[in-house]
Amino acid sequence: EKKYDYLVVGAGLFGAVFAHEATKKGKTCLVIDKRNHAGGNIYCDEVEGINVHRYGAHIFHTNDKRLWDYVNSFVEFNRYTNSPLAIYKDELYNLPFNMNTFYQLWKVRKPEEVRAIIQSQIKESGIEDPQNLEEQAISLVGTDIYYKLIKGYTEKQWGRNCRDLPAFIIKRLPMRFTFDNNYFNDKYQGIPIGGYNKLTEGLLKGIEVRLNVDYFESREEWDAMADQIVFTGKIDQFYDYRFGKLEYRSLEFKHETLDTDNYQGNAVVNYTEREIPYTRIIEHKHFEFGTQDKTVITYEYPQEWDESKEPYYPINDEKNTAMLKNYQQLADTETKVIFGGRLAEYKYYDMHQVIASALKKSSTIA
Ligand code: FAD
Repeated sequence: EKKYDYLVVGAGLFGAVFAHEATKKGKTCLVIDKRNHAGGNIYCDEVEGINVHRYGAHIFHTNDKRLWDYVNSFVEFNRYTNSPLAIYKDELYNLPFNMNTFYQLWKVRKPEEVRAIIQSQIKESGIEDPQNLEEQAISLVGTDIYYKLIKGYTEKQWGRNCRDLPAFIIKRLPMRFTFDNNYFNDKYQGIPIGGYNKLTEGLLKGIEVRLNVDYFESREEWDAMADQIVFTGKIDQFYDYRFGKLEYRSLEFKHETLDTDNYQGNAVVNYTEREIPYTRIIEHKHFEFGTQDKTVITYEYPQEWDESKEPYYPINDEKNTAMLKNYQQLADTETKVIFGGRLAEYKYYDMHQVIASALKKSSTIA
């Protein structure tokens, strides 16, 4: 007889939702995390009364009313609407690409005129069968949007020239022919009132959580404690990297507290020039309409990933996809381990997707 029904490795969104649902069904759970806090990448630090998104800006959005109601049952969400700006050579552009952006680029006001400009740029480029990301982007949105708003940003993100990146990275580049700066098309979006930690606390209420413990440092002991394991760490590490290391892109965040109540007037400002080393500046207070005297901003620098850095974005190229398949075949044979979340599935997941996945995987608990 083991002490717990479930050992949940990782107190991120996947682990927290799974543990919450299992507990609701009368199961006992022990949640462990190697970090000194729960919440995984949605965790916020409080600085000057401002919730600072430590692992990058997080905006919750979904089309699924069930998921919206689910998160709102733990903490009420505000009506923040993501409408990022882009700066290129000191000129300001609205995102996503919409009639405001087109007016800023060409001083035209009619959708018909915009379509004509874009079509003529695409035609002039003569690209018929795009061979790389640059050609793909130009064939979708023309040269102006590509050179001013896509090229530099994408090259910083991937650390490579767009001509050396595969075309498949960009399948579509949505353009909106209305004056609408709302980044997401989803019906619901917002930020938890009081911050994301409230969501984590709500999910993990009454559940035993142990922090600062790495599963791999005493694996046998942890395994002995529960009938089943919910594993949300890296799948390649779970199998001792026997097929090799899955690769990631990483980010470095530089946080600064400033002695002003408003630095940039918007939560998210992208810097699309290659010469500026960061991709974005986040001003956290604007996610919650903050009125504090000070402000906290974060510069975001894309990084090559290595063992010393956080693994943020999976690289879904051929090599890593093939390696992942090998690991998944092993995972499929496990009877006592459930793999879930962005690291165990090596998949970019938005928050609503990770919650949906955890709800689905926990729904089979008897
Ligand atoms: P994580 O949050 O990474 O949780 C995994 C946990 O497991 C971590 O706490 C880790 O410490 C722990 N762990 C790992 N290995 C071990 C071990 N060996 N022992 C103990 N503990 C371990 N989503 C949105 O919907 N909107 C956004 O705007 C958005 N912005 C994002 C911006 C960035 C920069 C990034 C990287 C992601 C963003 N996301 C966004 C996605 C969102 O962060 C994820 O969907 C979600 O946090 C994933 O939860 P998870 O539980 O799968 O993983």
